[in-house]
Amino acid sequence: MTSRALKKSAAKPRKATRAARAKEPGLMARLAKGPVICAEGYVFELERRGYLQAGAFVPEVLIEHPEVVEQLHRDFVHAGSDVTQALTYYVHREKLRVIGREKDLLPMNRTALSIAKKVARETGTLFAGDICNTNIYDPTDKKALKEVNRIFAEQVGWAAEAGVDYIVAETYSWGAEALLALEAIRKYSKVPAVVTVCFHREEQLRDGWSAVEACKRLEDAGAEVVGLNCHRGPDTMMPLLKEVRKAVKCHVAALPVPYRTTPEQPSFMSLTDPCCGDARAFPTGLDPFMCTRSQMHDFGREAYALGINYLGICCGAGPHHIRALAEGLGRHPEASKYSADMSRHAFFGTNKKIRKVQTDYRSRL
Ligand SMILES: [Zn+2]
Repeated sequence: MTSRALKKSAAKPRKATRAARAKEPGLMARLAKGPVICAEGYVFELERRGYLQAGAFVPEVLIEHPEVVEQLHRDFVHAGSDVTQALTYYVHREKLRVIGREKDLLPMNRTALSIAKKVARETGTLFAGDICNTNIYDPTDKKALKEVNRIFAEQVGWAAEAGVDYIVAETYSWGAEALLALEAIRKYSKVPAVVTVCFHREEQLRDGWSAVEACKRLEDAGAEVVGLNCHRGPDTMMPLLKEVRKAVKCHVAALPVPYRTTPEQPSFMSLTDPCCGDARAFPTGLDPFMCTRSQMHDFGREAYALGINYLGICCGAGPHHIRALAEGLGRHPEASKYSADMSRHAFFGTNKKIRKVQTDYRSRL
């Protein structure tokens, strides 16, 4: 991908008028033209901001501080996201059962969808629904499988009712669970499906499927976009993405976590911190492993050059990462107005207005 081609795919201005919005193409048309950026990782960012508890990772913030969720959506759009994805991740029956809030299932889903819809329609971004890993999938347990199908059916149904442009089904460690999610999207909605699976330490899912096998099966079952999300950082997700891109014909999605995972510790749950007795860093000690903005910039650029058009960042992403990813694709989102300009820096600046007494001191900093 040349820089000229990247520039050509620059995003449209974000403040869409009502008329312009009506003409905005859907997901598939946008993917056909170039990259689509989907900011994710809401639960980690809300945890960092003090509105969500690590552990259960259920976004109770939807009920307690909906304004915070709305602002986070706006922050991600400002930073370059083309999508406003409803925060229905982990707002399913099983997760609410774990925290004793089953009665809030419907209000939380409806609130998440209505906040995202409002931001999407006001900003001209795509409005995405979201379903995810149920944590009860067990291929040998018929009762559990019935419950999994119920969870998918109801969340897809609510998303469809809310008028989503497409639905994301994400973070599946079981390939067969991802297939059930896709089936539900096909059965209970008429919108495109983006289905992503996730890899822990092993390069196979819990049912033994490789990334290629899982993505091919999902493509064959009718998913419009297939790929990988979460758990692995850019460096340890990229080799799998390359194989997937070669193996499928449909669009591919890549949404790594923004952490410096390694061949020895390829997932963010496996990272250990030598400064703290090699304790597991997940989930609240991951800060020293955070990718820089330039790493996320380069990841987006490299993935897009491979032909991967659906790009995002999962758990751990902040708006600064999304802006870097967008800029790596040659875009200039609103937040780029404030991208770094070290020519104005008090010591390192090259601006003529910076005094010599400061720049002469540079080598001693
Ligand atoms: Zn994630």
